[in-house]
Amino acid sequence: MKRVETICGYCGCGCGIYVNVAEDDTVLGITPSYNHVVSKGKLCSKGWHGYAFVRDSRRLTSPLIRNSDGSFREADWDEALDKVAEGLKAATTAGDNTDHIGLISSARCTNEENFLMAKLARAGLKTSSIDHCARL
Ligand code: SF4
Repeated sequence: MKRVETICGYCGCGCGIYVNVAEDDTVLGITPSYNHVVSKGKLCSKGWHGYAFVRDSRRLTSPLIRNSDGSFREADWDEALDKVAEGLKAATTAGDNTDHIGLISSARCTNEENFLMAKLARAGLKTSSIDHCARL
């Protein structure tokens, strides 16, 4: 077993954790970092136990693009990001941007990442329609 030192990604607190990983890369559990400046060896229940999603069969592991019939197909990141850029460009040239564009960020992002998302929304895309999932 190896222990991988990282930061819990469930919320913006940023508690220090070790992910305990088997030889076949299976996640076996989480151990708090006892000398981490934020958490000092303590974690909430999500930090301790919320790792089952890693092996969930429903987990998305690649971008999906919606076909014209409503079904989805897997795509690589270059194609998916090109589609996003194409869609945002079309929306920003369609008139009142606030009516056409909304962004959803994540409480699992860092403060800096959420700041950048807000900048992209307000300064780049000229919309104030931005939200995130802090109400977990
Ligand atoms: S252990 Fe809990 S409080 Fe700490 S970062 Fe994870 S979710 Fe947030």
